[in-house]
Amino acid sequence: MSTPTLVKFEDALTRYQPVMGLEVHVELNTATKMFCGCPTTFGAEPNTQVCPVCLGLPGALPVVNAKAIESAIRIGLALNCQIAEWCRFARKNYFYPDMPKNFQTSQYDEPIASDGYVDVEVEGETYRIEIERAHMEEDTGKSLHVGGSTGRIHGADYSLLDYNRAGIPLIEIVTKTIEVPGDKAPAVARAYVNHLRDLMVALGVSDARMDQGSLRADVNLSLKPIGATEFGTRSETKNVNSFRSVERAVRYEISRHAGILDAGGTVVQETRHFHESDGTTSAGRPKSDADDYRYFPEPDLAPVAPDPAWVEELRATLPEPPAERRKRLQTEWGFNDLDMRDIVGAGALDLVAETVEAGATPAAAKKWWLGELARTANEQGVDVAALTITPAQVAQIQSLIDAGRINDKLARQVFEGVLAGEGEPEEVVQARGLEVVSDDGALSEAVDRAIANDPDAAQKIRDGKVAAVGALIGFVMKQMRGQADAGRVRELILEKLS
Ligand SMILES: [Zn+2]
Repeated sequence: MSTPTLVKFEDALTRYQPVMGLEVHVELNTATKMFCGCPTTFGAEPNTQVCPVCLGLPGALPVVNAKAIESAIRIGLALNCQIAEWCRFARKNYFYPDMPKNFQTSQYDEPIASDGYVDVEVEGETYRIEIERAHMEEDTGKSLHVGGSTGRIHGADYSLLDYNRAGIPLIEIVTKTIEVPGDKAPAVARAYVNHLRDLMVALGVSDARMDQGSLRADVNLSLKPIGATEFGTRSETKNVNSFRSVERAVRYEISRHAGILDAGGTVVQETRHFHESDGTTSAGRPKSDADDYRYFPEPDLAPVAPDPAWVEELRATLPEPPAERRKRLQTEWGFNDLDMRDIVGAGALDLVAETVEAGATPAAAKKWWLGELARTANEQGVDVAALTITPAQVAQIQSLIDAGRINDKLARQVFEGVLAGEGEPEEVVQARGLEVVSDDGALSEAVDRAIANDPDAAQKIRDGKVAAVGALIGFVMKQMRGQADAGRVRELILEKLS
């Protein structure tokens, strides 16, 4: 495979306008699958949640899951879409071993929801993303390629198939073409996927975990010369699985397409794989046009014709729209626009909100999620939401600080322990012996040693130069490995030297 010539992102934008399209798959959290009664529990033993319907055995007949229809309609409404009064499922024919029926039950020209929009915010600017459609379909099974270094089928010794996921309800949300200022394109793509995640969680229709694949984004991208009206050929980067990766995939594809176009080459219409390790993409399979799928209406399923009165009932169950919620939280928390922008930009809005609900002050919640934890996430190359610490645990750590049992410095070690899987904050404090010493006996001895160690500083304090107390406090803290109650140490020093 030849290495593509990349053009620097900023240079590419001087000549080309990126055009994006985003397809997001949301796995619904229904108890059972889309067309059968099999459970949908994540992480079960392979092939234990299957039946004749989801295995595509001859003669098995599917039945639509009403809860999935309800979720699909609520998603459509939240995306400001029109809800179809009558629509059908369609068979999308293609052969893949992870799809036992040899067709996927999907929707084609009659989606349940169409023509909507969402507004996303990037650096204080609002961008409207138009939604073409949101349609229902079923997930495929999962292939596991064993042997070989890449985990892909090439070079593998053999492949295993798990059909537990086959037939889990999915909603695919497809945007119309997105044309925003080129330098904003990566951030807008990220903000949009982040927005959808927040929306799905608020609706309660999916756990929308990118790291577990319950929310997956495909990034379509093409370039056209600035001023041109005709679109270029697009590539489709599949299954990008973090917000950060969405942003990186857009940037990389802009650089790659520009390299091909600058050299007078032709962009190939194909799917591409995204590589987390270095932020690059590589060729997948040539992308079929719709004709190749031989779509036709699914004869085994009745059309879906939701009663308009029911749709209105569902509309009444919609959660507060994300933009309004952000404004409300900003007022409640007393943050300025910049604070909120940082929180939303870091994908930490829900985390901060849940931490506040668990008892921390907004300022403390923001401090930890945007400081220590954002830094850790960045080091690990993951989104903050994927860190193995819960908002409740963050609130507990803050309450240990508020109770004077640990200080900020020790708290960092507690975060480290919780993230390393050493247990709850309290257990980490115990196991690592992190508690602040405020026992006067132990502190008093350490203070005496500090005074003996630095008679000059002690004399200055006796002479009324209280600023010199810092040096003695520093000595005590060092001796007690940061675990002394600094306020009490200061009091003791001043008492002894007054
Ligand atoms: Zn089944």
